[in-house]
Amino acid sequence: MSKTPSFDKDRDYIGSATLPEQVHRKSVKRGFEFTLMVVGESGLGKSTLINSLFLGDLYKNRQMPNVEERIEKTTKVEKKTMDIEERGVRLRLTVVDTPGFGDAINCEDSWRVCTQYIDEQFRQYFTDESGLNRRNIQDNRVHCCLYFVPPWGHSLRQMDLDLIRRLHRKVNIVLVIGKADCLNKQEVRKLKERILQDLEDNHIQLYQFPECDSDEDDDFKQQDRELKASIPFAVVGSNTILEVAGKKVRGRQYPWGVVNVEDPEHSDFIKLRTFLISTHMQDLKDTTQDVHYENFRAQCISQISQHALRERGKLKRDSISSTNGFDAAISETDRLLLQKDEEIRRMQDMLTQMQEKLKQTHLMEMKKNDSVIDV
Ligand code: GDP
Repeated sequence: MSKTPSFDKDRDYIGSATLPEQVHRKSVKRGFEFTLMVVGESGLGKSTLINSLFLGDLYKNRQMPNVEERIEKTTKVEKKTMDIEERGVRLRLTVVDTPGFGDAINCEDSWRVCTQYIDEQFRQYFTDESGLNRRNIQDNRVHCCLYFVPPWGHSLRQMDLDLIRRLHRKVNIVLVIGKADCLNKQEVRKLKERILQDLEDNHIQLYQFPECDSDEDDDFKQQDRELKASIPFAVVGSNTILEVAGKKVRGRQYPWGVVNVEDPEHSDFIKLRTFLISTHMQDLKDTTQDVHYENFRAQCISQISQHALRERGKLKRDSISSTNGFDAAISETDRLLLQKDEEIRRMQDMLTQMQEKLKQTHLMEMKKNDSVIDV
């Protein structure tokens, strides 16, 4: 009651300034959902990093596969969910792990499991969206894929390129060099350069950071520049808390000293966490919705309308070949034909709209890229 604006005091106040607060309140009430896919061979420090990032223990009951299992298996998807609450804001985090990727001797089908999982989530969302109860759709689409590159290679392996090529138009891929404490500073820099060059040579576009708004403050702009310059993030993970000079730090103890995971001089761990949670989580979700899901949806609608066209042709043929004498049968066929025509028209309208939207998104992306090159 007391919140009603006082019209006498401020006659020019209409209340639209509270709109962001209303959106904020509603979003906080609803909570947030985020799905992260983690891809890479086992032993690269994926689970340790995820636990370090989200201060959780998602993998405490994990059983390591033995050698026989590793030789035989293809990639198996494992999904874990964790509820995180910070200052009253709830985040439901789902981590989709593909534990065996690259472990099996035959890696041919490894990528299929990842692409199938991503497509399945899109398909489920598409079905839910077309259903009757659209208010409480659970969003299980993969918003980001952390792709782990081993630190001991010279660049990306053929296997990495094959998988990334198959995924990059379906999901936001963010490359991570795991166990970066195996490399010195110069080696990290060289490996990053070679990876970026490989991606360029193979025309692979990973997640594109949005341009920083010009009205952002200088600190934010600086942070944004640093994040972009760190790609691919070279990270170190640890679930051990050590005491260094009286301070508790998350780190790895070696005979010659301690690697402090959160020290920017030692690893890009903090940058990755800032990027994933504090600065770009919403953009990752928006890109999933506006680019990857729209792509999937356009393909689905095009397939449905092609199917409807085929059905229509079949109905027409059936109606011609059937005996012409039965008026009732003909009128039923006509009715079905009209229905199909209407369905096709609706699908084609939707398809045109989506193609237009995608074209605009691509144009915007190209403009953005041009402006980056200009700079
Ligand atoms: P995953 O199979 O990829 O999930 O790998 P794990 O997280 O289970 O880690 C495998 C082993 O590597 C464990 O012994 C970890 O303690 C260790 N490890 C994890 N992260 C790092 C890291 O950043 N650097 C080093 N040197 N070892 C790590």
